[in-house]
Amino acid sequence: MKTLILTTDKKDIETAARIIREGGLVAFPTETVYGLGADALNADAVARVYEAKGRPSDNPMIVHIARASDIGQLTRMLSPDIVSLIDNFWPGPLTLVVKKKPSVPDRTTGGLDTVAVRLPDSGPAIDLINMAGCPIAAPSANLSGSPSPTRAKDVIADLDGKVDAIIVGDDCRVGIESTVLDLTGEVPTILRPGIITAESIEAALGKEVVYDKSLTEAAKHVQADPADGVSESDFKPKSPGMKYKHYAPKADMLVVEGQRDKVIAEIERLKTLNERLGNKVGVILFEERAFIEAAHDFFAKLRDMDSEGVDMILAGALSDTDGVGFAVMNRMLKSAGYNITKV
Ligand code: AMP
Ligand code: MG
Repeated sequence: MKTLILTTDKKDIETAARIIREGGLVAFPTETVYGLGADALNADAVARVYEAKGRPSDNPMIVHIARASDIGQLTRMLSPDIVSLIDNFWPGPLTLVVKKKPSVPDRTTGGLDTVAVRLPDSGPAIDLINMAGCPIAAPSANLSGSPSPTRAKDVIADLDGKVDAIIVGDDCRVGIESTVLDLTGEVPTILRPGIITAESIEAALGKEVVYDKSLTEAAKHVQADPADGVSESDFKPKSPGMKYKHYAPKADMLVVEGQRDKVIAEIERLKTLNERLGNKVGVILFEERAFIEAAHDFFAKLRDMDSEGVDMILAGALSDTDGVGFAVMNRMLKSAGYNITKV
């Protein structure tokens, strides 16, 4: 398939919108990462997204809308919590999981009776959704399993020839995917951490928010001996996307955790050893507590190291238990396949 490479000019977005209306696939920038979009209400179009990405079909997509009131196309009941969150955080990187209307295809929600919705804070994304005239289902615009794309060139590397069009916009401002918050249970539950933190959601709602058990268990699992009895079921994620191999660079990756000076020394030691063995080694070490910058740069660094032919990536863990650093650590641990050493 020949992929059209488009700009963010209105005329090009109109072309992209027509492709969406006709059931085609368009990759487009958002403030989090690039998305691969299709008409969310067209099951055949959505099926093609799974195919292009090589994504398991039980992993549901986020549906993007262009104005808050359009959430009414996807769900019936707007609770006071939903309304507060929309007022406080939209447009922005917060995805709300709500009960779906029957008109939302099972394909879009991976067979769940809930739907994930977001209003992105990105001009080209809003223009595209508006001109298409339908909500747009969009997972990240990468091949399933590879690092998320935060620059147009990352999208082109993964999807050129597999989708109808790619809109080339600016690099993504945030760099990691949205916070996913489930509002269908008794307590609002974070299924995926992002730059909108538990603390800021709690402040907006005036009540407690929890993390899905799989997120906190994953952190424990890293430290656990099999003998500690962390069972497979403790790990079972509520957000289907959390169970798959994710964000993995081509290189082997090891996360080094501990006191900062020890981490730096250990990374230096392992780098020297591995280079002596003939390995090309890449290092990811962010400034202390520079979590926003880490979010912005992390996936781009993985992709750059892959293009440079790095064999092994050594990454310094971020010490943050529930803020933006925690969200970046969630991606870092998955990228490394939970391969971590403590110093
Ligand atoms: P991506 O599209 O790559 O940004 O991933 C979307 C994330 O949202 C995945 O982790 C999905 O599993 C999650 N998600 C989407 N819809 C739902 C839903 N209805 N319930 C729970 N998680 C969802
Ligand atoms: Mg993704």
